[in-house]
Amino acid sequence: MDLQLAGRGRPILIALSAVSAIALFAIAVSALGVRSAAAEYVTTFPPAQTQQPEPEASVDAGIAFVPDGGAQLWDGPDRDAYFTIHEGVVLPYMHRQGDWLLVTTMCNETSWVNAADVETQEQANNPAPGPGFDLSEAMIVLDPGHGDRDWGGVGPGGLSEKAVNLDIAERVRELMSVSQSVDWDTGAITPGDEVPAFGSVILTRDRNGPNEGDFELGLGYRSTVANAAGADAFVSIHNNTVPRFNTDIPGSEVYYAIGAEGSDRLAGLIYQELLLSFSSFHADWTGGELLGARARIDPDTGDDYYGILRRATMPSVIVEGVYISEPEEEALLATPEFRQAYADAVYRGIVRFLSSDDNGAGVNDPELFPLDAGTVSGNGCDLPAQPSE
Ligand SMILES: [Zn+2]
Repeated sequence: MDLQLAGRGRPILIALSAVSAIALFAIAVSALGVRSAAAEYVTTFPPAQTQQPEPEASVDAGIAFVPDGGAQLWDGPDRDAYFTIHEGVVLPYMHRQGDWLLVTTMCNETSWVNAADVETQEQANNPAPGPGFDLSEAMIVLDPGHGDRDWGGVGPGGLSEKAVNLDIAERVRELMSVSQSVDWDTGAITPGDEVPAFGSVILTRDRNGPNEGDFELGLGYRSTVANAAGADAFVSIHNNTVPRFNTDIPGSEVYYAIGAEGSDRLAGLIYQELLLSFSSFHADWTGGELLGARARIDPDTGDDYYGILRRATMPSVIVEGVYISEPEEEALLATPEFRQAYADAVYRGIVRFLSSDDNGAGVNDPELFPLDAGTVSGNGCDLPAQPSE
C-alpha cells in the first residue's frame, strides 16, 4: 500500500476533469445525433438529418500506440509540434477531430497527436461479463503500480514494488496472449485450448517504453487508459507494506471500485485465486486488520478513496499480493516462481470473472477510510522524450 494511490495535485485534477467534462459533453451531444459548437474543437457541421442515426458509441475514443521513433505532440490540430514523446508508450484519447487525437499524457496533461504518426485501437464495446462472454474479444488493461522515482514499497533487501509489479503484469499478459488449459482445482495452467487467447491486453507501462518500463505515470492517466480502451476489466498490480499482524494465511487484499458494477465480484475472484496460488508457498505471513476483497470510502465525499478506482468506469481493482516490506515475503517476491503464481492467480481470476457468474470469496463491505494527511509530493512530472539518433 502506498500514498501514491491517493489524489494528486489539485490543479492537475481540475484541469483533467475540465477536459473530461468537455470530452464527455462532446460524446453526449454526438450520442444524441447533434453537434454543438460548444465543444470548441468541433469545427464542421454535418448536414441536417431527418432521421437520427443510431449513436455510435466509442468511435471517438481509443488508444494510440507510439511506434519506434516516437511521435510528436502538438498544441492543437495543425498548430505547433512541441515535443517528441518516447516510443513504446500508450496515449489514451477520448476525442478525435479528423486526423487529430486529443490524448492524455502520462503526466495527466492533454495534448494532440496526428493519427498518421501512431497506431490506433478503437475503444472496445463488449457485452457485460458472464457465461458466454467471448474471451477472444476481451480487452484488458493491466497497470503495474508505481514507476521511476515513485518506487512504491521497498523491502529490507532492497526489492522495489515498481520492478516486481511490472514483472508480474507482464507475466499476466503473457498468459493471456495464447490459449491455455486450466486445472481449476490446483490452479495449474498449461498450454491448451480450454481458454482462448485474449483479444487485447494493454499495460499502462511496459519494457518497450522508456527506461525499460521504469517511468512515471500519473494516476489520472492510468484510469484514462482503461476508460479510453473500453476495458472489460482494469487491474492494478501492487504489493503491500507495513502489516499490522502475523497471520496464518497470506495477507492478500484486493481493493474494488465501489462505483463500478462488478468490481467486487472481480476482487473476490482474484482474492480466491491468490490464496490458491500462494497455498504452496510458506512464510511467516503478515496482514492488515482485514484480509480479502475490500473497498475504502472517502468519508468526505462518499467516493472511492483510491483515485484510480474512483475514475475508472469498468470493473476495476487494485491487487495487493503480499507484504514486500517483510523479509520472508520479499524473498518470495524475488523468485520467478512466486511472481508466476501471483500472475497465474490474476489470470484465473479475470478468466472466471469474464466467462462465468462465480462470486469468489472474502468480499468485505466498503469501509470508511479517513484521508491521509500525507500525500505524494506531485512536484512535476517529466514526459519521456524520444532520444535523438
Ligand atoms: Zn503499491
